Amino acid sequence: MRFVSTRGTAPAVDIDSALASGLAPDGGLYVPETIPAAPAIDPSEGLARTAATLLAPYFEGSRIAEALPAICDDAFDFPAPLQALAADTFVLELFHGPTAAFKDFGARFLARALEALRRPDDPEVTILVATSGDTGAAVAAAFHRRPGFRVVILYPDGRVSPRQAHGLGCWGDNVRALRVAGTFDDCQRLVKQALGDTALRNEIALGSANSISLGRLLPQAAYYAQAALQFQRDHGERLNFVIPTGNLGNATACWLARRMGLPIGDIVLACNANDVLPRYFDGADYRPAETRATLANAMDVGAPSNFERLRHAHADDAALRQAMRAASVDDAQILATIERTDRELGYVPCPHTATAIDTLHHLRGAGDTRPWAVVATAHAAKFETVVEPRIGRLIAPPPALADCLARPAHADPLPADYDALRAVLRP
Ligand SMILES: *Cc1c(COP(=O)(O)O)cnc(C)c1O
Repeated sequence: MRFVSTRGTAPAVDIDSALASGLAPDGGLYVPETIPAAPAIDPSEGLARTAATLLAPYFEGSRIAEALPAICDDAFDFPAPLQALAADTFVLELFHGPTAAFKDFGARFLARALEALRRPDDPEVTILVATSGDTGAAVAAAFHRRPGFRVVILYPDGRVSPRQAHGLGCWGDNVRALRVAGTFDDCQRLVKQALGDTALRNEIALGSANSISLGRLLPQAAYYAQAALQFQRDHGERLNFVIPTGNLGNATACWLARRMGLPIGDIVLACNANDVLPRYFDGADYRPAETRATLANAMDVGAPSNFERLRHAHADDAALRQAMRAASVDDAQILATIERTDRELGYVPCPHTATAIDTLHHLRGAGDTRPWAVVATAHAAKFETVVEPRIGRLIAPPPALADCLARPAHADPLPADYDALRAVLRP
């Protein structure tokens, strides 16, 4: 299988180079040259097997094709259960991994794939990540104590919750957290500057693990395949999905699974007050905007990076607008939804998941009676400062998160200045 750039001017590459390089040299995102049909999958064999079978066509010809089942066993070693919430309403819980957010799936797969691709005499790779919370923790956990890799995380000091900061600083060993005196945009700028610094890259091997990485995108199709196949087997119907959306990585994976032929019905994107996608899908031109801070902060995105992949895969805007819809949910609705879902259904969603529950609430109000799964992207205990005051009680963190919170955390201060970062990175 070959992978081409969405911008069309970089040469096609195999999956091994696409995984290692992140962005294509022309600045585009790698996409498969053609989307393969899904091989036959038996969902009763479990998520890891589903992942290995589903991903096999992409890894044809890869140096790690034979290792794929073992990589999937290791990356998908926690469940993605589909829980019933109400009649014909389900929750696909993606928060049972080490950092209690769905990004664990992609980060763990990418880490294990890159590790398998390593040759014995390759230099140590430094994975650089800018994060506003969940991505950095998932990448840190995934690469923690993996030989041949170190992780350097940059996050905006004072702008992530105390629990999120702890989740970034609790690893130690080959993971270093830097709290930057600046905003998330400053962190991203510093990372981009380092990745574009050829002199630095001659001294150390740099890698990235951001949301456009193909190694994070592809494995996310597995839990949609698993849930949809199991649902069809149990109920004889297609399952529809509402997906909390920021950079569109999770939703693009769902769309990919449907394109591969899996029994997935409608896809609806639930966004927060950052409404670039809802405006586009309602017919306006695609117009990236300044990011607005919301309670669902992992979705605070003004220019969704995977949009370029979706646009590339469709003949025109009309075709893309047929493929999915999107809705915007503001902070007041997020808070009201957390409270209502707890009171009426006995289920406590995180602020991101609440955007999807509210979006489905409106679909139901408009008379939609089909089976829907709301995608739960993080555990509510990760966002306790938002959730606990609304429901009037404490939420116990899941075991993996509790482990991390029980360890000491450490982050070094860094001025928002490239020379300072360069000094940290150089051997
Ligand atoms: C990253 C994240 C999202 C958004 O996912 P995208 O793939 O960027 O659309 C939603 N919820 C949570 C909890 C996240 O961490």
